[in-house]
Amino acid sequence: MLNAEQRQIQDLVRRVAREKVAARANDIDRTGEYPSDMYALLRELGLFALPFPAEYGGTGSSVAACVAIEELGRVCYNTAYLLAVQWTPFGAILAGGTEAQKQAWLPQLSSGEKRASISITEAQSGSDVSGIRTRARRVDGGWRIHGQKVWCTGASVSDYIFVGAKTGDGDSPSGINLFKVDRGTPGLQIGRKEEKTGARGVPSHPLFLDDVFVPADHLLGSEQGGFKLVMEALNTARPLHAARGVALAQGAIDHAVDFVKNRQAFGQGIEAFQGVRWMLADMVIQTEAARSLVYRTAQMVDDGVTGQALAPMAAAAKCFATDVAMKVATDAVQLFGASGITTDYPINRYMRDAKVLQIIEGTNQIQRNIVGNALLGRVPR
Ligand SMILES: Cc1cc2nc3c(=O)[nH]c(=O)nc-3n(C[C@H](O)[C@H](O)[C@H](O)COP(=O)(O)OP(=O)(O)OC[C@H]3O[C@@H](n4cnc5c(N)ncnc54)[C@H](O)[C@@H]3O)c2cc1C
Repeated sequence: MLNAEQRQIQDLVRRVAREKVAARANDIDRTGEYPSDMYALLRELGLFALPFPAEYGGTGSSVAACVAIEELGRVCYNTAYLLAVQWTPFGAILAGGTEAQKQAWLPQLSSGEKRASISITEAQSGSDVSGIRTRARRVDGGWRIHGQKVWCTGASVSDYIFVGAKTGDGDSPSGINLFKVDRGTPGLQIGRKEEKTGARGVPSHPLFLDDVFVPADHLLGSEQGGFKLVMEALNTARPLHAARGVALAQGAIDHAVDFVKNRQAFGQGIEAFQGVRWMLADMVIQTEAARSLVYRTAQMVDDGVTGQALAPMAAAAKCFATDVAMKVATDAVQLFGASGITTDYPINRYMRDAKVLQIIEGTNQIQRNIVGNALLGRVPR
């Protein structure tokens, strides 16, 4: 299924993951400290460039990006997350930025020289993106943004954050736009890091925006087109988040296989029990199905499929692969018995990280809404 170049990337990242990343995974999860060393490693390897088009310094392959996420996330979810955080705003810039914005911002993100995050969610408004209350009003030379955000992942380490805010007087979703807010801009305050059960190595923070001034050219694209951009960015990034699910499922299988080969019960290795073998077989069957769906959807992105042609497939891939991650990781913990509950073994972090994946980037109920609405020809609300 992978071409020669994608296979080369797979070999390289698999080797690096085993030799340099795996040993750091437990520590990153335990301490919850941002892995700057892993960021530097990904940068040195040029991995941030994978999904970016060649004209902006990239490799131009969403499939290759999924492969890299899968190989890293199989051993360390948090290291793979560093790629995913960078790749979400990239989708928005690519979908709606002016040519000048693309030229200015994409190469920096593609090389890893700069880090970016995206901040849409607010306390009263997560799934319902259209309900955000942060507002931007036009002033001389630019915009002033006022409001509060929650769950901005990467905020404290990012050079800039794309903040969702409504413009104009109305409350319609079409008034939502994204604004580039540089770290250190007066009026922007980054709140205390959330204490999370999963995805612990990449910090998420609330943001407080008190009449933050941004220049006119920090509005991404043109006014009133923003909501579409947000949706397009989420669509193109969804196969990448789905690949994180495949990564967790595959990693959980790797650990489970190691464990059952070494555990005895009733005078024999537990691998001899049909009940154990069938569980492992089902874990593999589901993971392979998820992998196929993810690669197929990533290929659609690479083929330039967008909008409503992409949305239900991207949603299906994210939903299925992350539900598989949760099921497979939970079954892996079951196979570990009590050892799966202690922190002596890494398997429970796969389950904690999988739960996060079912919630972020649109919950899996919302993904099902997208698939159902497309099937029945309903206009999404
Ligand atoms: C670790 C982490 C990192 C995050 N990073 C970011 C980030 O970087 N930037 C950002 O902007 N946001 C981020 N988020 C926020 C995330 O996108 C939201 O949490 C998510 O969209 C769900 O919103 P909510 O938590 O407000 O839940 P709600 O929208 O309140 O949903 C609560 C429950 O109701 C269900 N529900 C809601 N509406 C419907 C419906 N129409 N049909 C069926 N069920 C429905 C949901 O599926 C869920 O089960 C992050 C969240 C987490 C946990």
